[in-house]
Formats: sequence, structure tokens, C-alpha cells
Amino acid sequence: MQFHLNGFQGGDPKKSQPAKRIMDGDQAPASQVDVLIVGSGPAGLTLAAQLAAYPDFTTRIVEQKSGRMEKGQADGISCRSMEMFQAFGFADKIMKEGCWVNETSFWVADPKQPENILRNGYTADVQDGLSEMPHVILNQARIQDMYLDMMEDAPTQLVPDYGRQLLDLTIGDESEEYPITARLELVDGEQKGEIETIKAKYVVGCDGARSKVRHSIGGKLRGDSADQAWGVMDILPVTDFPDIRKKALIQSANDGSIVIIPREGGYMVRLYVELDKLASNERVRNKNIEVKELIERAQRIFHPYTLDAKEIVWWSVYEIGQRLTDKFDNRSKNDNDNTAPRVFIAGDACHTHSPKAGQGMNVSMGDSLNLGWKLISVLQGRAAPDLLRTYSDERRAVAKNLIDFDREWAKIVSEVPDASTTKTGEMPQFQRSFIENGRITAGVTVTYTLSTLTGNLTSQQLAKGFEIGTRFHSAPVVRVGDAKPVEIGHTLKVDNRWTIFAFADAKDDGTSNAAIQKLCDFLDKSRNSPIRKFTKSDEDIDAIIDFRAVFQQDRHDLAIENMPAFLKPQKGRYGLVDYNKIFCVDPKPGHDIYNLRDINREKGCILIVRPDQYIGHILPLDAFEELSAYFDGFLQPVS
Ligand code: FAD
Repeated sequence: MQFHLNGFQGGDPKKSQPAKRIMDGDQAPASQVDVLIVGSGPAGLTLAAQLAAYPDFTTRIVEQKSGRMEKGQADGISCRSMEMFQAFGFADKIMKEGCWVNETSFWVADPKQPENILRNGYTADVQDGLSEMPHVILNQARIQDMYLDMMEDAPTQLVPDYGRQLLDLTIGDESEEYPITARLELVDGEQKGEIETIKAKYVVGCDGARSKVRHSIGGKLRGDSADQAWGVMDILPVTDFPDIRKKALIQSANDGSIVIIPREGGYMVRLYVELDKLASNERVRNKNIEVKELIERAQRIFHPYTLDAKEIVWWSVYEIGQRLTDKFDNRSKNDNDNTAPRVFIAGDACHTHSPKAGQGMNVSMGDSLNLGWKLISVLQGRAAPDLLRTYSDERRAVAKNLIDFDREWAKIVSEVPDASTTKTGEMPQFQRSFIENGRITAGVTVTYTLSTLTGNLTSQQLAKGFEIGTRFHSAPVVRVGDAKPVEIGHTLKVDNRWTIFAFADAKDDGTSNAAIQKLCDFLDKSRNSPIRKFTKSDEDIDAIIDFRAVFQQDRHDLAIENMPAFLKPQKGRYGLVDYNKIFCVDPKPGHDIYNLRDINREKGCILIVRPDQYIGHILPLDAFEELSAYFDGFLQPVS
């Protein structure tokens, strides 16, 4: 973490100086806002945490509940979400507090005594090399707390306005500055029953599966009707089942399946318990299922092991249905609709699926990460509103893949295996599928299709391990300035900046008049330099596009003092030198980033990372024109 750039500041460096308007005491809820977020679940808070850093525009987040969440709902945090939390700055807290899923075990009916279960095998939960981050389990409420704390520490000190329920919204004429009108009912406190009206430039519905925002833009969730009931409970158990502190999948002969999720703190456990099939049009909430039934069913599935739930912390029942909305924004579905969207939906408002693959919260946060930087860029005038059209295009495709995967996975978990034909040691379908789908559930297979934001594949072969359109897969490097081994991906922050990484060719040490020097000259001095073009004269040189270089030599063979000044930029009000832009390979065995990511050693390459940590483009080191053209595709200069 870098701080003190504009002079020494004591105290917690994560706390920002409040914006001037807040110091002046102006914290009254605005009735005219740039962005109105409806709903403070994972999707709403991921977005609010990004926008909270920008006092130059107004954001409000409204929530119908009366305060912070305490328990329940989702708990699985994929490796990809952990990478995102790293960029937000709170992954370390989650790693300390959460429960790491290291190994998953599989249990089946004993072929000799089908009323008993026996262990059929294990697998590493996260395959080696998938991510530098673990798969972690932590309550949704705690994740939300991290975002809320971050928002309070941001310059806008943004807090949700609780006890406000969106009733409806209407979109007025595009010529109006604030064309959207949202009506909210105060559902809590002394003003209960009163109606508040907010005018907004943009509205984002993060209001869950029964989204009013989706309804207001004519969106519908479509898909399979839910016919399988499941129960979920967080319990403090006493049991002789040996894998109670591991993630475990149990398929019994006659009583259905259980997914065991070990929880934070070392004692609590979540059980997903398969209940009965539902008749068509039957709803699980009308079946008056009691927690006692969940416990009894779990006890039967655990047989011959015992299960005594000493405390039931939280429980719920739900039906599985894989559903997806046809549009993620207010544009008509007509392909010729060239308008820029004003209203968006994110998270469960767009897609619902079973929780067993642990994707709900993760994909919802991914939606908002994709939308956040686009909204900020447009509101700052750095991109035209057209950029906002890419949100629906990119995220609907991700949701569609998720829904297809979940439909398949939910079926496999609920399929009753024929115990009489199961041989000990044989890998049943659910075990095979779990292992095969590890990359999907880790969240690392998301690939944005080619567009203005994701270049073209002409130079993909220069770094085969960094696939254009996928998330930037971190690898170890050494920071040359202070000889510190670091993960290069951890240089990426959720701060709306683009990053250009230049991977030098084998001979280039940054001092000869070779590719890195020439690239620095272009970026520093050319009229076509995207860095010069899109950075305001009073901004730090890395405020919009951050340029970093990686060399193949050992750090002792590099002379930082002779490297281009552009790699050691002077910033802030004192012109302090930033020494954190130059890296070299980590000499430890198996740590060489060129080998790990299959980067062409002879030619090197330029790799562009979007503000949401996805790879935008890969280019040859001397492709100056293409580099300019790429950024010209969506950024615009601001005065
Ligand atoms: P949500 O978390 O649903 O957040 C939506 C927010 O919007 C809520 O805070 C809601 O109060 C607010 N809101 C809704 N309508 C309005 C309105 N009109 N005005 C103002 N505010 C509004 N996933 C799992 O992986 N495992 C589980 O066991 C699991 N259990 C779940 C149990 C329940 C009861 C629910 C509802 C969801 C569960 N999920 C589970 C799903 C998981 O929680 C979601 O996928 C995830 O929370 C999606 O995040 P979101 O922000 O899109 O929506």
C-alpha cells in the first residue's frame, strides 16, 4: 500500500480524508443524485464501495431493511472474488476470519449396507496454480460489513439509507439531466408511511430476485420452474462424522444428498439438505417445513454417524430454479436500439440459481465490478455513455453460462445413485463433475467476448497464459526498488485505472535504447500517447493509465538508476518519486512469470488490464499505433 504522497498523514492509511462538502456538514440525503443504488446486498455494496471514492458526483444507496445484516444467506467466496477483495483492500481480513476450504471429500452409500455411507475419495478444493487466493467461507453479513466499513472510510462517507423501499420508478425524457424518478416508501422509524421521491441520472437495481427495478424496466426472470426443495442450516453440531471440518458431498441411497460447508470460527457448520421434489406449481414456503425435518433428514443421511445439533444459528428452505432475465438494462431488446442505458440491474435481480455451487454472491459482485468502473468513467466524462451498453452484453453472457452450469450441477447432485451397482473406489458422477468443474466454481473461467474493450487475438500468442477477456492471473515477481517479492496482480486496485504491463524481451534491461526505452519515449512524449491524451495536466501521470514494466534479469543485473524516468514518475504536490513500477522475475524455482504465463521471452509484449482486472489486450512492444487505437475506442479526453 502506498501513502503519504501529498504529505505525511498520521492514523489508519485506509481512511480517506472526507470530501470538503462532508467536512462542511452537508450529509443530508440528496433528492437529486447521479447514481441511485437500490438494495444493499453483495451486488449493491460492491457498486457502492466503488462509487463512494468519488465526491465529485452524488451516490445514494437505499435499502428496505432497517439495518446491517447479521446472519444467513450466502457464504462461499470463490478464488476470483478473493482476488477482487485483494484489489478492494480487504482480502487479508477475510483470509484471517474466514474458513479456508482446502479439501473436499465425497461420500456414497455403502454397496454392502446401503443404509450406511462411506468415504469414496478426496480432491484438493482448489487445483494448484489456479489462483494465489484460497476458496474461503465467510458469512455474507461479514462480507457486507467489509464493504460498509470501506464506504464509511471513503471520501464520501457513504452509508445506506435504511428503511426505504422502492415502490416504482419511471424514466422521463432523455433531454432531462436527471430523467429517472424513483418513489420510495419509508418503512421504518418515525416517518413510516411517508413517500420520498428521488431524481437520478442512473439507477442500479441490486434488489434481489423479486426486483422492482427489473419489473419497472419490463424485465422478467425466465427459466426452469423450481421442482426441488432444499433446506439450509447453520448449526453448532456434535458428531462422530470424520469430515465435518471439510467441505463434503454425501449422496445417500434413499434419503437424498447433503453438502457440508465448514464455517468460520472452527465449530459452526452449514448443511445443505436435499428435501422432497415439489409438485408443479407447489411452493416450498407453503409446505410449512420445520427445522426439525431438516435435522431428521440430515441424521438419516449421516447414518451410521450421529449428528446432534446443539444450536441452530440460522436456517431456511428454498426451491431451486435456474432463471435469467433477458436484459440487464432498460434498452429495448431490439438490436437497433442505439440508446445508452439509464437503468441497470445486477445480481439476483438478473439471475437466480441453486446455492450449492456457491455462485450467487460471487457472480452478483462480479456484475457490479463490471458496471462500477464504466459508470464512473461516464460520470467523469472520460468515456461516452455508449460504454454502458457493454455491461449487459458482457454480464448476460456470464450469467447464461452460470445458469447452464448450475442446471447441470443441481441435477447431478440430486440424482440418486444405484447403490447396488456402485463399487467401492469407483468415482460416481457427482465426484467426477465436481473435480472437472473446479475452474468454473473458482470463478476463473469468465471470458468476455471480443469487443472494443477486449481487443483482438492477433498477438495472443505473445503471452499464451494470459488469455484476452479473462481475469489477469497473478504470478510472483520481485519489485526491483525494494527487492520485495510480490504478486504482480496485487498492484491492481479497484480505483478505476487501466494498467499497461510491459514485459521486456530477454536482452532488454531497460537502459539500452531497446523496446522498453522506446515504449517509454512514446508513452511520455508522443501526441498519440494514450497516457498523455487521457490524463489531465493537473493529474498524476498514472491517474488514469498506470504503466509498469517487468524484466527477465535478476534484480542485481538491473540498474534502476539508469532506467527511463517514465518508469520512476514524480507525483503528488512534492513530486515524490514512485519506485514501485519496475519488477523482475522471481528467481525461486517455479516462480518465473515468463514460464508460468507462457510469455514470449524473445519478443516480450504489452499487456493491458482493464479497471476490473480483466485482460483487455495483448500487443507487441512496438505496436504504438494499435495501443493508441485501443484506448481511443472508449476513452475520451477531459479538459
Ligand atoms: P440480495 O442479497 O438478495 O440483496 C438484495 C437487497 O435488496 C436486500 O438487502 C433487500 O432487502 C433489498 N431490496 C429488495 N427489494 C427492495 C426494494 N424494493 N427497496 C429497497 N431495497 C430492496 N446463496 C448461497 O450461496 N447460499 C445460501 O444458503 C443462500 N441462501 C439464501 C437465502 C435467502 C433467504 C436468500 C434471499 C438468498 C440466499 N442465497 C444463498 C442467495 C445469495 O444470498 C444471493 O445470491 C446474493 O445475496 C445475491 O446478492 P444481491 O445483492 O444480488 O441480492
